[in-house]
Amino acid sequence: MKEFGYQRADDVSGAVALLAADPDARFLGGGTNLVDLMKTGVERPTRLVDIRGLPLDTVEETADGGLRIGATVTNSDLAAHPGVRRRYPALAQAVLAGASGQLRNMATVGGNLLQRTRCGYFTDLSKPCNKRAPGSGCSAVTGEHHNHAVLGASDHCVAVHPSDMGVALAAFDAVVRYETLDGPGGTPAAGELPLADFYLPVGDTPHRETALPPGALITGVTLPPAPVAARSRYRKVRERASYAFAIGSVAAALGIEDGVVTEARLAFGAVASRPWRAHAAEAVLTGAPAAGDTFAAAADAELAAARPLPDNGYKVTLMRNLAVAVLTELAEEAAR
Ligand SMILES: Cc1cc2nc3c(=O)[nH]c(=O)nc-3n(C[C@H](O)[C@H](O)[C@H](O)COP(=O)(O)OP(=O)(O)OC[C@H]3O[C@@H](n4cnc5c(N)ncnc54)[C@H](O)[C@@H]3O)c2cc1C
Ligand code: SF4
Repeated sequence: MKEFGYQRADDVSGAVALLAADPDARFLGGGTNLVDLMKTGVERPTRLVDIRGLPLDTVEETADGGLRIGATVTNSDLAAHPGVRRRYPALAQAVLAGASGQLRNMATVGGNLLQRTRCGYFTDLSKPCNKRAPGSGCSAVTGEHHNHAVLGASDHCVAVHPSDMGVALAAFDAVVRYETLDGPGGTPAAGELPLADFYLPVGDTPHRETALPPGALITGVTLPPAPVAARSRYRKVRERASYAFAIGSVAAALGIEDGVVTEARLAFGAVASRPWRAHAAEAVLTGAPAAGDTFAAAADAELAAARPLPDNGYKVTLMRNLAVAVLTELAEEAAR
């Protein structure tokens, strides 16, 4: 591993200033992804700016019914928070479906959103990979891609985003808060990005993953009030029963009155370079009978845009079945 410096940040503006002074430095959250990538040589920072001491480690329930989640809240604390479990149960379920207990005790909200893809070629320095080495090619398109993207990919990269947490955040219109030194004369300035705009389309620049300004520190995530989320669910399919990344996942919430869907939230995981909000499916669901036919039509509407590769076509069927199953469970629960 390349030698690097280490520094603890005491306050938010100090953390941002440290990174601005050294563009090859990186913020250190729990380190559960960054340190692995440093060991393989994918990441070679000059310095780590440890942000775990910053006062960004609380979850606050807002008066309007939403949540303000700090960037350094650990995955374990997020999943255990009573307000998260009551207001957005799918978020707690998604976080608990990820990694292991030890990892969740270390991993932070900001780091989870910025974790890199698990595409094997990305961490294999001997293979071409446009995300790691722009312009070198994509080994996965003609190589091993059974867990790669079926939605929103390009010939330049077919990797999926691995976060479970992000899928639930996408379903509930999360907004990412950040801090930069972009104020007048290089002073601290706060910014916000809806999660829908946070991850950039893949296009021909898969190495550019987010719309965060360079050097920005994620300070937290805001969840706007969503009463429908109180009855929500996250379901993940993986290749073994525990401790594995998703091959497909669904976060969903349904509002139902008199047997008709009044509001629908649906997001898919492990199918695209970002958590995938299923807007086409939501449009089919809203105003339709809360019944199996509707759920299947909604899933089909979303997956009509799927462009599977030779070895990952199973994901289209998997996601259809998963979405129908989760929506059916939510409808049955509402009818009780
Ligand atoms: C074996 C294993 C299994 C896993 N399984 C799953 C799984 O099933 N589901 C899942 O979702 N995840 C899984 N993970 C991934 C894990 O959730 C992530 O590694 C973790 O969430 C990253 O958080 P972190 O705080 O450790 O980030 P770090 O490793 O510290 O940082 C990751 C990146 O984010 C940047 N960063 C961190 N915080 C900030 C901030 N506040 N502002 C700006 N930049 C920041 C860092 O500079 C770095 O580039 C697994 C990881 C491992 C090792
Ligand atoms: S899918 Fe993306 S991350 Fe994987 S090899 Fe291709 S360019 Fe690299």
